[in-house]
Amino acid sequence: MTADLVLTGGLLADGTGAPVRLADIAITGDRVTAVVGPGGLAATPARERLDITGLVVAPGFVDLHGHSDTTVLSDGRAISKVHQGITTEVSGNCGMSPAPAPPERRGAVRRAIGIIDLDPGVDWRWSTFAEYRARVDGAVALNLAPLVGHVALRVAVNGDDPGLLDAAGRARLEAAADEALSDGAIGISTGLMYPPAMFADPAELAVLGRVARRHDALFAVHMRNYGDALLPAVDEALAVARETGCRLQVSHLAVAGRRNWGSVRTAIARIDAARADGLDVAADIYPYLAGSANLSQLLPVWAQEGGSVGIAERLADPSVRARIRAEWTTTLHLGWDEVYVSLVDDDLRELVLGRSIVDAAAALDLPPDEAALELMRRTEDRVQMVAFGRSPDDLLAVLAHPATAIGSDGLALDPDGPTGVGRPHPRSYGCYPCLLGRLVREDGTLTLERAIAMSTSIPAARARLRDRGVLREGAFADVTVLDATTVIDRNSFEDPTRRPEGIVHVIVNGRAVVRDGVQDPAARPGRALTAG
Ligand SMILES: [Zn+2]
Repeated sequence: MTADLVLTGGLLADGTGAPVRLADIAITGDRVTAVVGPGGLAATPARERLDITGLVVAPGFVDLHGHSDTTVLSDGRAISKVHQGITTEVSGNCGMSPAPAPPERRGAVRRAIGIIDLDPGVDWRWSTFAEYRARVDGAVALNLAPLVGHVALRVAVNGDDPGLLDAAGRARLEAAADEALSDGAIGISTGLMYPPAMFADPAELAVLGRVARRHDALFAVHMRNYGDALLPAVDEALAVARETGCRLQVSHLAVAGRRNWGSVRTAIARIDAARADGLDVAADIYPYLAGSANLSQLLPVWAQEGGSVGIAERLADPSVRARIRAEWTTTLHLGWDEVYVSLVDDDLRELVLGRSIVDAAAALDLPPDEAALELMRRTEDRVQMVAFGRSPDDLLAVLAHPATAIGSDGLALDPDGPTGVGRPHPRSYGCYPCLLGRLVREDGTLTLERAIAMSTSIPAARARLRDRGVLREGAFADVTVLDATTVIDRNSFEDPTRRPEGIVHVIVNGRAVVRDGVQDPAARPGRALTAG
């Protein structure tokens, strides 16, 4: 049989963590049809042969924690992702999925996930999860394996009101989650710092865990707190797994604030104790010492009720602002010099974008805490931050855990298009090259084989993506070819959109999306994947 593509001379890192070895690889249609020793395909007829001598050939990266749900509909090239070597993204994380979105609640769902819905020009023509999946299938350069998000589910069936759900509300939530999983969502996510999911009580979380368990699907939890209350937040997530038996993914395990450094090790110990009890629990992380979220995440919970509209209304009241400032004197776990404005409305961009809150405050002629509140009020909560204040030791502890997967927490962005706004966290453009260039090659923190396993087979297994994440005969032909001697992120927090170096070829379902570092702008081989 004639192969479509033969790759010769590459050093195979197959995704399992096994030592690299020389191998030649044949691809036919959307599958890997041969993985053999060097020279083994010399006589195999092929439509095309690529000599990749000196390069590493690996399964395409499976980004376990992504947010490209609607940005891929703004630009199906998914530029920032495919240039990192990502061939599959698990989207819909942190409770934020674009479906379900029934017509009467579409605007409310869209507002609730506004932090990831960057292009207002995207036409939300779907209502059910099945319709959303159909919209992305074949329209994107990489595969999407979408989770259904608690934020969307709750808004879709119960509106964006704060407060506890009663039994009837929980029953509606359960039915909607069940339908989305039957419609092909690979799991459920929640974002317990985002309204209205943040108002969920244990009974509501147990509903989601039970539905996930019923479908043997992943339950990914952006926990209630990544600061002073990290450990109670870990316990809350673990309790759902304990009660329902669901497979639990602790999203982006990290802690912010110097006074909390070290608590990540305790969190890992609790996760390990749960694993020892037979629970299926693991974490994911991106290799940076800063996170990114809405600035309003720093507000007390009571001040976030009603979402963006509630926040803006509340912050117009000077007495409320005074109360928040007073609370912050004890509860704020970050310094204002550690918090940078990464996205903000046009009229404020010149003044504050890319600046720390301390510098932005000087520009606004306000004290830092007042400046932060004023930015949230004036933009109606459309202001995002990059927040530093993480410990290298905590990051290393998460990376060292055998069950940890890499998840970028980034979005598919086009620096020259509608999604190229603000100064985003560099993870959207450089997560995997950062991992492979800095942590593997420069620091020696991880072996190449281990880093690639954390980027391929481990996340693929968590998401239950069949025949992906390991480069072997019969697998889907999702392949990333890279130069391990040069791969590096060249971007930074100051200059986040620069392309990485050393990602040479990226193949999705047998089709080259990136060749010699250049993207085929027309290639849309990505599919909406299901689990199992
Ligand atoms: Zn999150």
